[in-house]
Amino acid sequence: MRRAFETGLQGELEVRVETVPVSWYLTTVTPIKDPAENVQVVICISKNITQRKQLEQELYDRSIRDGLTSLFNRQFVMERMRELLAPGDGTMPPFSMMMLDIDHFKTINDQYGHVVGDEVLLELSGRLKESFPDSGWVGRYGGDEFVVLLPDCGLACAVHQAESLRRIIESKPLAHLRLPLTVSIGVAAFLDAGIRNFMERLDGLLYQAKRQGRNRVIG
Ligand code: GH3
Ligand code: MG
Repeated sequence: MRRAFETGLQGELEVRVETVPVSWYLTTVTPIKDPAENVQVVICISKNITQRKQLEQELYDRSIRDGLTSLFNRQFVMERMRELLAPGDGTMPPFSMMMLDIDHFKTINDQYGHVVGDEVLLELSGRLKESFPDSGWVGRYGGDEFVVLLPDCGLACAVHQAESLRRIIESKPLAHLRLPLTVSIGVAAFLDAGIRNFMERLDGLLYQAKRQGRNRVIG
């Protein structure tokens, strides 16, 4: 603060006071000095920019989330993966990913319509969020396909988590439809062969799970 009084400062100040919502101020501190360079007066002007900051936050949230399910979008999850690989010091943090796809989702859309189809996507998203409250990055990869990025989790750990997720989903049929809800899951641990290669491998494993009869985990 003393430095700011001596040299001047412009910045965004975040004010956090317990029980009061956080607020933001664009603050300019201007010292007025005498000929001997001693600070005589400090002019401090603050403009409340809380609304602008809230809007920025809202826009950012929208840019990283899927519009229907509010899960993270594909770009955001891929960005997190790039971050995990960023250290570049030769140490490879173990991480895995599961890619899952609803079985026979087209049948649900065809029999009950897209609105019900959307509800099913929301239901599944809820179950995914509950299953990984803070241990994984859950995203909608597109359509009826979802991904879960699992930092600090090798293949055995990821297969175990995928299998319990598959069982949870299978055990709760969609109550209002007389249809089971199952997913097929491909699981892989990242090996140092690039992200594109990794995603193709995952896609292949998911495809195998479908081909082998669906409602299963292949890792
Ligand atoms: P499979 O077991 O092989 O996965 O069969 P499937 O019927 O699930 O086939 P697939 O995964 O290829 O079908 C995905 C369908 O999801 C096709 C598309 O019409 C539907 N879909 C994609 N996005 C949405 C959406 O946002 N809402 C709804 N209701 N349907 C969607
Ligand atoms: Mg599907």
